[in-house]
Amino acid sequence: MDEVSIIRRLMDTDIHITPGALDTLRKQTDSQSAVERVLTYLREMVDKPPVLTEGLVTKILEVDIETRHQPPSSSYLAIERQETAVVEGPTRTVPELVHLKFKPQAADVEPRIELLKDITGHSYSEGELKDFVKLFKDRYDRLSNMLRKRVDLHEAVPISSLTAYDDGDAVRVIGIVADKRETRSGHIVLELEDLSGRATAWIFKGRRELMRKAAEVVTDEVIGIEAMLRKGDAAPRLIAIDIIWPDVPTPREPSCAADPVCAALLSDLHVGSEMFLEDAFMKFLKWLRGEVGNPEQRELAGRVKYVVIAGDLVDGVGVYPQQEEELLIHDIFRQYEAATELLAQIPDHITLIIAPGNHDAVRPSEPQPALPRDVTSALYDLNSLMVGNPAWLLIHGVRFLVYHGRSFDDLVAMVPGLNREKPTSSMIKMLQKRHLAPIYGGRTAIAPEDKDYLVIEDVPDVFHCGHMHVYGYEKYRDITVVNSGTFQEMTSYMKRLGVKPTPGIVPIIDLQTGQTRAIYFA
Ligand code: FE
Ligand code: ZN
Repeated sequence: MDEVSIIRRLMDTDIHITPGALDTLRKQTDSQSAVERVLTYLREMVDKPPVLTEGLVTKILEVDIETRHQPPSSSYLAIERQETAVVEGPTRTVPELVHLKFKPQAADVEPRIELLKDITGHSYSEGELKDFVKLFKDRYDRLSNMLRKRVDLHEAVPISSLTAYDDGDAVRVIGIVADKRETRSGHIVLELEDLSGRATAWIFKGRRELMRKAAEVVTDEVIGIEAMLRKGDAAPRLIAIDIIWPDVPTPREPSCAADPVCAALLSDLHVGSEMFLEDAFMKFLKWLRGEVGNPEQRELAGRVKYVVIAGDLVDGVGVYPQQEEELLIHDIFRQYEAATELLAQIPDHITLIIAPGNHDAVRPSEPQPALPRDVTSALYDLNSLMVGNPAWLLIHGVRFLVYHGRSFDDLVAMVPGLNREKPTSSMIKMLQKRHLAPIYGGRTAIAPEDKDYLVIEDVPDVFHCGHMHVYGYEKYRDITVVNSGTFQEMTSYMKRLGVKPTPGIVPIIDLQTGQTRAIYFA
């Protein structure tokens, strides 16, 4: 695209462009799509800057994500023109009234929310070894039942019964992966365990597709193996033919709300950090109150009935090395006070749902109970529901699974192809494994509860995580998979990890239609 066409295209938005920004756009390999991306971003900003600078263009092009996950009902440009036309025309009082009087539709809807499951008040963990035995037995029971429901694993047999089969027989077993290793010649060996015994499964290097699957197997998860039995003098060996994860059944009908309500999904505010973007967060609060945004964005704000926070409300104290140097508020109680002061500005008709993360003041091992009253009684005084991590909720009939996402750190390190830039890929892996944090002994501390609260027993309609500080959206088998990003700028710690955050993006999910839209506040 040449400069004139770029300027023409941008003219529709009433934004001025600096020569630097123009130059940056012109130099893009696909300048047309770059211009369109910039336009999309600008449209979804609640507070459009008057001048498009080089810095803003660079930032927008770096984010490179889709904001609208459905075709727009009407073109924005049309709406913007209409707005200008009406203001200039004789009927100007009508839109002004619309602007002055913000009547949130959600205020007329009763909250319908049910906490289906979380650990709060149910923790029996004494931290003893026998509890871990119980935990893993429970994990095996739940996941093997799920696997056995699959047609390809109906015939799965207990490991102890393998001795009764002949050499060369086709067998299927379901086991927890006790160990995974690579041999010197490049084959993968899995130690599988069920309640009856232990067996070794071999994946030969020559089997490319199977090796790809084997690479995704992590320790302590429960999988099914289809194999050929090899009997020698030693214990029987399984020569793997296929590896099967429980996954999510398909097709399935996602549930929808009868009322026209939306949920705004947040996480990782990190209040108390110097890098907390208070201005951007204030813009979000103003938007919820109908004070900023274009007419369509305000209408959407009026339908927000829930604000869900998937952990890391505050930055905490002593969470990562040298954190104190980047703290604005050094006292954890003061951090929660500051967070409460902000959240108190959310309109009363909106219910807040708050789950903890690894920066919050509650035990770090998962499942985490809700933030305790003695840390932050003020949060309980808001129109809020304090839940654990993970939490299963039914909101207007729509099933939510909210999980902070600590186990991303382990999954990204162990599973090839997963990375911090695309959090939804890791979330989809969790859904396929039907477990939020399968790997034991990694970065994710796991509490020895007698039930495994991290098994994804019921299939959610909305799967909401945070922790990665990168916004992400994807549909997986009709499940809305969302990572809600952050309101914190890059910290030195993230810089070392190589994480480039996408702060100030808030996904809004329409519970009636199941559609998601991201709005920019930074
Ligand atoms: Fe965080
Ligand atoms: Zn986190």
